[in-house]
Amino acid sequence: MFYSAFEILKQGLTGNKGWKPVWRNPELKTEYDVIIIGGGGHGLATAHYLAKTYGITNVAVLERGYLGGGNIGRNTTIVRCDYGQPGNSEFYSHSMKLWEGLSQDLNYNVMHSQRGMLQLCHSDEQVGSYRKRANMINARGDEAQIIDRETIRKRAPYIDLDNARFPVRGGLWQKRGGTARHDAVAWGYARSADSRGVDLIQNCAVTGFDIVNGQVTGVQTTRGAIKAKKIGMAVAGRSSEVGAMAGLRLPIESHVLQAFVTEGIKPFIDYTISFGMGHFYINQSDKGGLVFGGDLDMYNSYAQRGNLPRVEQVAEASMAMIPAIGKVRQLRSWGGIMDMSMDGSPFIDKTHIDGLFFNGGWCYGGFKAAPASGAAFAHLIATGQHAEYASKFRLDRYKTGHMIDEAGTGASPKLH
Ligand SMILES: Cc1cc2nc3c(=O)[nH]c(=O)nc-3n(C[C@H](O)[C@H](O)[C@H](O)COP(=O)(O)OP(=O)(O)OC[C@H]3O[C@@H](n4cnc5c(N)ncnc54)[C@H](O)[C@@H]3O)c2cc1C
Repeated sequence: MFYSAFEILKQGLTGNKGWKPVWRNPELKTEYDVIIIGGGGHGLATAHYLAKTYGITNVAVLERGYLGGGNIGRNTTIVRCDYGQPGNSEFYSHSMKLWEGLSQDLNYNVMHSQRGMLQLCHSDEQVGSYRKRANMINARGDEAQIIDRETIRKRAPYIDLDNARFPVRGGLWQKRGGTARHDAVAWGYARSADSRGVDLIQNCAVTGFDIVNGQVTGVQTTRGAIKAKKIGMAVAGRSSEVGAMAGLRLPIESHVLQAFVTEGIKPFIDYTISFGMGHFYINQSDKGGLVFGGDLDMYNSYAQRGNLPRVEQVAEASMAMIPAIGKVRQLRSWGGIMDMSMDGSPFIDKTHIDGLFFNGGWCYGGFKAAPASGAAFAHLIATGQHAEYASKFRLDRYKTGHMIDEAGTGASPKLH
């Protein structure tokens, strides 16, 4: 079904009875050409690009829960392309280009909003490091600039520029940064993959791998064995757990990251803004809620909820940056299981097992990465070659000394 203004009009005039389910509920087959484990943003995007770009449609996406129930539906929706390190820099630049055509590509409104991203600097040293970052972004062809206090005051008068501890000295402004509707991204990719013949199988957890003479031949699941000679793992926070089922020891730890949403208020914060003296970022959703988050809870966990010390840190940072926020009531909070790599950068690679491919280690950046990650993972699975813009995301980079050192710890360290 093609979504269009005409279709809305037609359905509206005929009692809205003709809308079809956004994806099918297919029978599980015993064998596929490709299996993707994980129905999150990266798994669904991979299925879409496998089908659309490479014509590979005999594909199953196996999801242990429901589609979009993982981090793709739990994040704070920030999309930007201002990464500094070679490797990440070209990758996120490519992802932004895919974002800019994504709603059209999927025929599904992912509500991508390039409202602008402002990252505050609170010391001269930080202005200097962000200036270097702006230069790198501009040299790559993506636009960014340093703006001064007066410009920030005009654009965002609610920011406490003269905070006694964290006075604002300037900011890094990226016009093309912004947000998108997180679960619409999962649904859009799911709908597109399904419409091209991909089977999306929910409530089907992978419990083991079948490996014969170093070649993967299938998976064991809670719904029985399924054969495939090519299998892609995209299970984010469960990477080390699922990897261990195939004997992989991955350089990834699982940590909780929380997100918070307030009651809906009138439009107030026009941009996505991050605080430079701690890890805090905020935007306002189209429904009016302020959406914000901070650092990891900093202990290993598979729980999708966090603890109070991080709530306190996030509240402190928000009050230091926007004191008026103290009057808004928080409505909801939740956690997601983050796949944190040791250098803060991801992996899209083959494993030592023939036919088994790995995608993970997305740390704080996996939402904005989903389009390019899906495209690059599909390319790797279909052709056996690394896409150029994702060619540095190798599993052996700690051994070979080719770390992509974004640190993975927040706003400033190593320009993450
Ligand atoms: C609170 C929070 C805020 C964030 N904010 C941002 C942000 O503003 N910008 C940004 O770019 N990134 C952000 N991120 C990071 C981003 O959301 C993730 O990096 C990204 O969504 C991870 O990839 P994914 O979508 O494929 O993961 P998920 O959606 O988690 O998908 C993985 C799927 O694998 C499934 N799975 C696991 N084990 C199995 C199994 N054995 N069998 C079958 N299926 C299995 C899971 O159920 C899950 O659905 C945030 C994350 C969190 C938690």
